[in-house]
Amino acid sequence: MTGTHLGMPAFPAAAPAFPAAAREAVRDEGLRANLRHATHTIRDKRRRAVAELEDWDRLRAAGRAVKDHTLRHLDRYLLQLEEAVTAAGGTVHWAADADEANRIVTDLVRATGEREVVKVKSMATQEIGLNEALEAAGIAAYETDLAELIVQLGHDRPSHILVPAIHRNRAEIRDIFRAEMGGWGRAAPEPLGDDPRELAEAARLHLREKFLRAKVAVSGANFMVAETGTMVVFESEGNGRMCLTLPETLISVVGIEKVVPTFRDLEIFLQTLPRSSTAERMNPYTTMWTGLGPSRGADGDGPSAFHLVLLDNGRTDTLADEVGRQALRCIRCSACLNVCPVYERAGGHAYGSVYPGPIGAILSPQLRGTGSAIDASLPYASTLCGACYEVCPVAIDIPEVLVHLRERVAQGGPVTRGGVRVTLRPADGHTAERAAMRAARLLLDRPGALRAAERLLARARRLAPRRLPGAGRAWTDSRELPTVPAESFRDWWARERSDPR
Ligand code: SF4
Repeated sequence: MTGTHLGMPAFPAAAPAFPAAAREAVRDEGLRANLRHATHTIRDKRRRAVAELEDWDRLRAAGRAVKDHTLRHLDRYLLQLEEAVTAAGGTVHWAADADEANRIVTDLVRATGEREVVKVKSMATQEIGLNEALEAAGIAAYETDLAELIVQLGHDRPSHILVPAIHRNRAEIRDIFRAEMGGWGRAAPEPLGDDPRELAEAARLHLREKFLRAKVAVSGANFMVAETGTMVVFESEGNGRMCLTLPETLISVVGIEKVVPTFRDLEIFLQTLPRSSTAERMNPYTTMWTGLGPSRGADGDGPSAFHLVLLDNGRTDTLADEVGRQALRCIRCSACLNVCPVYERAGGHAYGSVYPGPIGAILSPQLRGTGSAIDASLPYASTLCGACYEVCPVAIDIPEVLVHLRERVAQGGPVTRGGVRVTLRPADGHTAERAAMRAARLLLDRPGALRAAERLLARARRLAPRRLPGAGRAWTDSRELPTVPAESFRDWWARERSDPR
């Protein structure tokens, strides 16, 4: 286990492996019904939205190319970004891990003398556990995205990248609002039904009070433009824009992989991200800010202080892996979650990270390492059906990375952790698998021995078990072994070919 923190649970080493966590989740029929309804609705809408663009494949290839180019020259673009942000009046901070990022943000908030902040929905701040760190320092952090608000008020954990409360239905949300809103600020109006408009209005009134009072806001960003130092946030509700423009101090915590070289590159992602995530042709709100700029600061609109915290937290280690680095192309659209048959049944919490679903299964074990039970199990949390790759707007070959990480878990090998090249030992529980693979290789390399083994098996087929004993039992718990044929294919072929017919 390394020190990289991915939001939840607080101690990944103690988190159960994915199969154990998922077993609990799939027993919950209500959860499965909520997830099935939500993911199928979003995926169908996305398919229609993407089909409208004739050049989707070219946009996808262009997004991939921009991201790959930027990752290859990440050092150069990050320095260019720092220069541009600083020139525009912002201050750039570098954070190697979650602890450092939390310390920087906490100190910045303390320096303002404030005791509360409003937050724009951000995966990076969830990843580092910022709300908990601020709370420990006596600072209240209020989520302003509707779904994040539901999760926060419900003392819950997010289970989807884009729709963190996807596992909740309307009646549950109404109950949460009625029970909890008063403890965090303006109480929910009475009576409150479970009509979406009523729920949205209750949230609007509750949040408005916070927007008007807050002096400090914390955000992430979807993109950072190196040439101009521009930060970009895509959102659907407009609550993020309130946070980005009303408070006096704005602190943005952003993963280093979010940089793109030029303003023009946004043209691609402005088309692919909204269609992939919310099935919208464009975002209802796209907010861009460049440092303080001439119209911002004390005499203009927007914050008078801007801080950018650039977060590594395992990303440069991931970048060192030639196959796995493609996970850093991710633009967090969540399309891969919505088509994944495993996510649809297991839900997001079983992945033990703020990044669930297929992208979580490849990102978490790279950012955090494969030392814990949950991280060693995540590369197996997939059917390898490839649906995630098909929908990914930046063409991340998730199945390829899953197989690559499975090999790492089962065989060990060289990886980069904390910037240092180390050799991993195989994870526990794969000894029998390795022995079986070695035996298979020995046999397949020797045609004569393989033929003899096939004939022996055919003769003894009535004794062949339907379930494997010992270490193989887990494999046949959910599968049946195939019936052994009376004759091997080889013998059948030889017989058929020699038949004079
Ligand atoms: S891996 Fe691809 S599909 Fe999944 S969230 Fe990231 S960009 Fe979207």
